[in-house]
Amino acid sequence: MIIFSNVSKIYENGSEALNNISFFIERGEFVFIVGPSGAGKSTLIKLLMHEEIATSGEVIINSVNVSALKQNQIPYLRRNMGVVFQDFRLLPKKTVYENVSFAMEIVGASRREIRRQVPNVLSLVGLSHKAKAFPTQLSGGEQQRVALARALVNNPSFLIADEPTGNLNPRTAQEIVELLDEINKRGTTVIMATHAKDIVDQMKKRVIAIEDGVIVRDEARGVYGYEN
Ligand code: ADP
Repeated sequence: MIIFSNVSKIYENGSEALNNISFFIERGEFVFIVGPSGAGKSTLIKLLMHEEIATSGEVIINSVNVSALKQNQIPYLRRNMGVVFQDFRLLPKKTVYENVSFAMEIVGASRREIRRQVPNVLSLVGLSHKAKAFPTQLSGGEQQRVALARALVNNPSFLIADEPTGNLNPRTAQEIVELLDEINKRGTTVIMATHAKDIVDQMKKRVIAIEDGVIVRDEARGVYGYEN
């Protein structure tokens, strides 16, 4: 479970990205985070990832208060959380297989675990046949599937997706979201920040809308609610 309790974030230059927001997300939920540019969506995601720290309030992830986390506890948090971005962020000199296996090596998995688990996630994202390809040899949709495989390979309880379809055409975007839905149905909590109106409207999932650093809507089967 994720709890944001009266969380504010003011950057060093004084810009107030989040202003006293509170919500909780239960295990197994699928949540869209929407709102105009500059609303605070990326900041929210950075607080979840511990890339930024809240100025006040508490961010609690699986009973752990992230704001008070010691440096040596951060790898554990990260392991529990898969992240994908709009720009995929794959390692260009590594193959598909190596991009995914590297994420397991970093957390100290054994060779045997790696040999078993990497083919599993590549199969889940439909890319077993591309294991030896390099990122530049893949389409955008395929690259995002690799990023998803990498995010999932350590069996995280959360998958955080920051504009994961932002660089994809509508059809490919749709496929990626269907994959996220499938991943969610297998038990992973999915949190996706997005501007993809059509996708949000069609999926009928929980929608948390942020504007100017505050939550303006939190609906169980919500819609995007903005003109793009
Ligand atoms: P969104 O992801 O919804 O576009 P952000 O979380 O990126 O919104 O930004 C929220 C506000 O915080 C904006 O006013 C933005 O300019 C500001 N902001 C974001 N990151 C930083 C930063 N590193 N330093 C200073 N201000 C920032």
